[in-house]
Amino acid sequence: MAKKGEQCCSFCGRPASQTKLLVSGLDALICDQCAQQVQEYMLNTLKKSEGTFDFGNKPIPKPAEIKEFLDQYVIGQDHAKKILSVAVYNHYKRLTQPDDKNDVEIEKSNIIMVGSTGTGKTLLARSIAKLLSVPFTIVDATVLTEAGYVGEDIESILTRLLQAADYNVPAAEAGIVFIDEIDKIARKGDNPSITRDVSGEGVQQGLLKLLEGSVVLVPPQGGRKHPDQKMIAVNTKNILFICGGAFEGIDRRISSRLNAQVVGFSAAKNKEKIDTDNVLQYVTPQDLKSFGLIPEIIGRLPMLTYLNQLDRDALRRILVEPKNSIIKQYIKLFKMDGISLKIDEDVYDFIVDKAVEFKLGARGLRSIVETIMMDEMFELPSSSKKSYHLTLEDAKQKISREELARFAAE
Ligand code: ADP
Repeated sequence: MAKKGEQCCSFCGRPASQTKLLVSGLDALICDQCAQQVQEYMLNTLKKSEGTFDFGNKPIPKPAEIKEFLDQYVIGQDHAKKILSVAVYNHYKRLTQPDDKNDVEIEKSNIIMVGSTGTGKTLLARSIAKLLSVPFTIVDATVLTEAGYVGEDIESILTRLLQAADYNVPAAEAGIVFIDEIDKIARKGDNPSITRDVSGEGVQQGLLKLLEGSVVLVPPQGGRKHPDQKMIAVNTKNILFICGGAFEGIDRRISSRLNAQVVGFSAAKNKEKIDTDNVLQYVTPQDLKSFGLIPEIIGRLPMLTYLNQLDRDALRRILVEPKNSIIKQYIKLFKMDGISLKIDEDVYDFIVDKAVEFKLGARGLRSIVETIMMDEMFELPSSSKKSYHLTLEDAKQKISREELARFAAE
């Protein structure tokens, strides 16, 4: 425990009294142990030809192939798919570029995705992960807090990546991290100095360090940094960060900005073009700033994309089309008991109608299908039936309004 006013190592937090030496820099201090670890790391990485990662013999998928792959799992969201495909492709290219200091250096382009909850942000990230041969992890920004507060240190993001890479540091350094709910670390008010903003700006500052590309000492087991723990140094220079968030209410900001813009002499002309049902497509870095992300973070997430709201048509497709759609999963479940499942087309429309009526979104589709199927899932495996035919009448009977209201409340 540091005494009041005692200087501490900026890397591991050890107070001066517990170190042999504490060297001060411009605005940071480093203790003898951390300096030693950094030195070991530097020697190791300089020995390896920096920046190269071994993919084995796998060919690098082209952007169009990556998008085609995503199309199998995610319905719509073409803009986000394109941006992701190009970013992932370039990520691979950057990793394979020869280490020539005199040549053009390809820098990474981290991504930020804005879209309401349940529109497919995590699904996109998970689907990308299926295709990749680099370590990949998904972390939730809501658990992150500034050092010294209850929650996880920013470095725990890299702990997850290290775990995904089986603690192979060069592999982790070529990995991809998806940070979910990035909007939850937005600055809460315009004046952060009045009250301490534990999970806001401080966390963004910490995150900035990772996004910018620096050597970070990571606790191998995650959680809080601990003075006696041996840290692993990870260089984030080549790690691709993909961030996602719902940014609730940002659509109103965008709309009011758009309205303000069209109050001019070209108003009539512009107004026609604006698609008011889906204003997220007009999101700009400025909107993220007014939501509470600091400009430095926004600058480090140069690829900004959005996800569309899911309309009836999209929900209908989500129900049946993806490679592992809910309906395909049920057909498989029944098949495993030797039962063939037939569902009438109008049942799909009914399910979608209910999801829309009770504003349940894509996540609600599963709850509705599960409720409709529950009795048969329970009874059929012990019966001698070899087929089951689900009609609209059955579906309507199986699902009561009370049940739907309960889903909506959840
Ligand atoms: P988000 O991360 O945007 O909150 P998710 O990706 O977790 O949303 O979506 C929740 C679930 O809804 C997914 O697991 C998937 O079953 C379904 N879903 C949402 N959007 C889509 C989509 N565009 N295509 C296919 N399924 C989707």
